[in-house]
Amino acid sequence: MDDADHEAARRELVAGLRRRLDVDERTLAAIESVPRHAFVPDRHRSRAYEDRPLPIGHDQTISAPHMVAVMTDLLDAGPGDRVFEVGTGCGYHAAVVAEVVGPGNVYSVEYVSELAEAARERLRRLGYDVTVRAGDGRTAFPNESPFDAAYLTCAPADGVPDQIVDRVRTGGRVVAPIGRAGAQRLVRLTVGKDGVDREDHGGVRFVPMR
Ligand code: SAH
Repeated sequence: MDDADHEAARRELVAGLRRRLDVDERTLAAIESVPRHAFVPDRHRSRAYEDRPLPIGHDQTISAPHMVAVMTDLLDAGPGDRVFEVGTGCGYHAAVVAEVVGPGNVYSVEYVSELAEAARERLRRLGYDVTVRAGDGRTAFPNESPFDAAYLTCAPADGVPDQIVDRVRTGGRVVAPIGRAGAQRLVRLTVGKDGVDREDHGGVRFVPMR
């Protein structure tokens, strides 16, 4: 497949998402801009524009495009918003969010240092100004908060850790899969002055948070 084939496949993927999902055009435009094939291992490249997760090594996966679209949309972020990602993986989701909020506004942490390093280099090469650190989402970016929004691409079994919610400003959002394998739900928390409001967005499957 050459670049033109990838682009055609990507447009078709986005057309399918537009029919099936109730998400903003801004989110779909972001998905349409990011070359997902550049984020997946060579041997899966021909399947990069199928709407499914794919292995990226270290027992981790790149999320399916529809899941990235739904989560990006739930963040309710716009140009200039600063966003905290827990679980960089290959960097694809971070690139999509960077398309929405603009350069320099996405801060991402990845537990597996090899993945963090590879994603940092890949994002840089593709022209995405995303800050990637290796480490644990619970303790990352202490000096960069408060963020306007945060999201997790791994599932904490017992709900979003307080340390992560505390990194988000009042009025900001946290989007995350929570719960044990087989019983995970996608939730959106909105941080209020006197507590956190929680919406349920259905059953999902993510890797567990370490
Ligand atoms: N957004 C990614 C999906 C990555 S899968 C993409 O588009 O490719 C989830 C990632 O979360 C994995 O790479 C896993 O190593 C990472 N992870 C799990 N627990 C974590 C933790 N406590 N802190 C940071 N990252 C974590």
